[in-house]
Amino acid sequence: MKFTELPLSEEVLAGIDKAGYADCTLVQETVLPISLTGKDVMVQSKTGSGKTAVYLLTILEKYSRNSSSAALIVSPTRELAVQIEEDAKILSAGFPDYRIGCFYGGVGYKEQSAELSSGLNLYVGTPGRLLDFAKSNKLDFRCFDTVVLDEADRMFDMGFYPDVQSMFAQMRKSEERQTMLFSATLSTKVRNLAWKYMSEPEEIAVQPEEITVKKITQELFHVTKAEKFQLLLSILKKQNPASCLIFTNTKDMAVEVAKRLVMNGYKAEYLMGDMPQTKRLKTIDRMKEGKLPILVATDVAARGLQIDDLELVVNYDIPEDFESYVHRIGRTARAGKSGKAITLACEEYIYGLEPIENYIQMKIPVVWPDEVGLEKVDDKSAGFHYHSRRPQQKRAERSGERRRNSSRKPGKPAPRKNSGYEKPAQENEKEYAKLSRMSLEERMEYYRSEFGGDDAKKPAKSPIQRNAQRTQQKKAADNKKKPQPSKPQSEAVKRPQPAKPMEGHTAEVKSARKGIFARIKAKFFGE
Ligand code: ADP
Ligand code: MG
Repeated sequence: MKFTELPLSEEVLAGIDKAGYADCTLVQETVLPISLTGKDVMVQSKTGSGKTAVYLLTILEKYSRNSSSAALIVSPTRELAVQIEEDAKILSAGFPDYRIGCFYGGVGYKEQSAELSSGLNLYVGTPGRLLDFAKSNKLDFRCFDTVVLDEADRMFDMGFYPDVQSMFAQMRKSEERQTMLFSATLSTKVRNLAWKYMSEPEEIAVQPEEITVKKITQELFHVTKAEKFQLLLSILKKQNPASCLIFTNTKDMAVEVAKRLVMNGYKAEYLMGDMPQTKRLKTIDRMKEGKLPILVATDVAARGLQIDDLELVVNYDIPEDFESYVHRIGRTARAGKSGKAITLACEEYIYGLEPIENYIQMKIPVVWPDEVGLEKVDDKSAGFHYHSRRPQQKRAERSGERRRNSSRKPGKPAPRKNSGYEKPAQENEKEYAKLSRMSLEERMEYYRSEFGGDDAKKPAKSPIQRNAQRTQQKKAADNKKKPQPSKPQSEAVKRPQPAKPMEGHTAEVKSARKGIFARIKAKFFGE
């Protein structure tokens, strides 16, 4: 579709000419006919598809009909704000009097403040600085008849949700303005915001960002929380990645893992959401330059920043939000390259696994440490833990938690997010208790003997395997004296083989995996 086929004024078309655009991109030809009528739109389209022109042309066309129209574009970063301003300058070439201002943190407040008071047609800015100006009465959010939220997903990743809410709260009613939201992904959070602050928005998805998990080699290890770090060391030793991003679910764990890696001789740093952006960007740059091989981060800290082309992504903790899994592992295997994502499933976060697998519509292949040749590495940081809060504070929090939780029926497990929790059979209780006392090797051996099928009998090769074999022999001797534990219902089912990504998983494999879930859940939360 040509731009001339759209209901655009001469002046707006002149700007398009100046930009050198002739044909609309897909998102432009899909959204412009709707946004030009003044309707609210929520648009999902992949990066680089031409979203900027969609809202800029809508704003400019509105201005051509009403020169007192004022628009606001909110951007998550200063770099993007500057880019939008540049594009706006070009596309508004047909309106010599059109005035644009750009407002972001980290630079002189005075000049920007002077610009504000002179009255503008288009305001582009980052949430923090815009709110600052509103606070000092230099900016009134009620003046805008058009509001654009660009890169809404990144806005959230960077923790701007409260700021965005605060801005919307100061604006005129949603029916009295046009609100346009643009994002590369429309997550639940983004949709929630749209429902809250937009007026019957039309949801338009064109060229969604591909879920790239298909190209990524995924692996999943079952491991206890206590042995996770040990396993991580083994993985890093084996993979020796040039660049590796490790995700944890909490800030404390990010610091702990990074510090423990340093104690073990690795060059590693951590990234947290509440660090100043300049500091975070510097760390990322060092990683891009190859000076920093390992970075440990929480989702909030990493998602707003462009860290691509990683050799390895490790989910030290399974994310509690299933969409995060895709965001995390999507940082490897960019641009057709092969990449690897390793996930450590421990008892604390295993609940997140089923929702993730449902979302990506595949089972993450389970691998066993000895199968992939992992060897135990001496952990020089053994016993080290990091807590940002003081012990008394933690104790107080914990006792508060106990009080809150005491309203639950005794013995009943706490309701868990995404748990899909099913109460396990009582008769396996002793078996779970036994499982919880096992070491990593012993448990792997146990899983193998329970779910392993024929290859459980293969001769051991690695030290872990040899160790496991010894344990098994010892166990067998012990078991002669004791009655055998009851077999799980999935006895006949073979352990899932490390499948190729997207290879179909059969119902049997699923039920075998469920058996493992039930055991691990029951072990820690069951009656
Ligand atoms: P997005 O915001 O979707 O990531 P942008 O709006 O930044 O993408 O556009 C990506 C690039 O495509 C920019 O360089 C822009 O100038 C260019 N572009 C946008 N629309 C057109 C068009 N209709 N014809 C040619 N190039 C375009
Ligand atoms: Mg954009």
